[in-house]
Amino acid sequence: MSERVLIAGGSGFLGSHLSDLFLSRGYRVLCMDNFSTGNRRNTAHLSDNPHFEAITADITEPVRVDGDLAYVLNFASPASPPDYLKMPIETLKVGAWGTYHLLELAREKNAVFLQASTSEVYGDPDITPQPESYWGNVNPIGPRSVYDEAKRYGEAMTMAFHRHFGVKTRLLRIFNVYGPRMRPNDGRAIPNFVTQALRNEDITVYGDGSQTRSLCYVADEVDGIFRLAMSDESDPVNIGNPSTEITMLALAETILKRSGSKSKIVFRDLPKDDPKQRRPDITRAKAILGWEPFTSLEDGLGKTIDYFRDLQSAGEI
Ligand code: UDP
Repeated sequence: MSERVLIAGGSGFLGSHLSDLFLSRGYRVLCMDNFSTGNRRNTAHLSDNPHFEAITADITEPVRVDGDLAYVLNFASPASPPDYLKMPIETLKVGAWGTYHLLELAREKNAVFLQASTSEVYGDPDITPQPESYWGNVNPIGPRSVYDEAKRYGEAMTMAFHRHFGVKTRLLRIFNVYGPRMRPNDGRAIPNFVTQALRNEDITVYGDGSQTRSLCYVADEVDGIFRLAMSDESDPVNIGNPSTEITMLALAETILKRSGSKSKIVFRDLPKDDPKQRRPDITRAKAILGWEPFTSLEDGLGKTIDYFRDLQSAGEI
């Protein structure tokens, strides 16, 4: 019998791509979601797959799962700034209590536990690129703290289970990821810019658009995550694309050109504590996992625009 993997947040953007990947590598997948930001459509194509099960559950409550588990992957959390600003308490609870409940489950099942952490643990970084050894520059009481501090707490809890109980744990720090199955209205830069461009509406750049992000295409990201799950590395590993760092103004211009849109760019207020720069140092991922991303921004954006265009043709955006 093949090994079974629990993916919490399995109907979200990353969780659903991970479900596909684990199934394609011969694993059985148990997808758990409370659908606060996940979408059933993301895993609808798996519903007839005998190796795929889906349950609706909220990990802020203790989690009971019958049967064996070889891996517990925690991808359950609102992850876009507008989502976590709308759901501050839920975000803190899922990052803290949710992580704790899944760690207890991994301990009970003797499973490997993988925590989806984030480049947000680096806050508004004062060094670039950011290596895992950097402790970060986070405002503990600012609006973004509900996510940043929950994720930092999740890392502390994960390391405590590792050190105190010997649970096999993995800490993944995700930088900005994009691709098909992002929610069109999740409020992040790429879904906003692409949907605005496709509708020929104004493209909203926050601040002067000089802030940067490094954008990793989802297929590259899940490949790195899979390798980390399979490794025996318990210290944090950055998984992101350092070669695509781009200002938000340049990103808006690229999407405008690429989609053949008639939109114009407009400038709106910069959200508080918005990081000015973000670029992963992936030296550890390369050395430990033999991983690096290979999708160019050009190719990845093309596939993403096609996905949103299909949603538009189906009348869904
Ligand atoms: N942003 C923007 N316009 C938008 C949405 C986001 O200029 O319509 C900016 C946002 O202020 C940030 C960057 O794009 O500087 C990336 O934001 P996103 O929400 O995608 O992710 P973050 O990296 O901040 O979590």
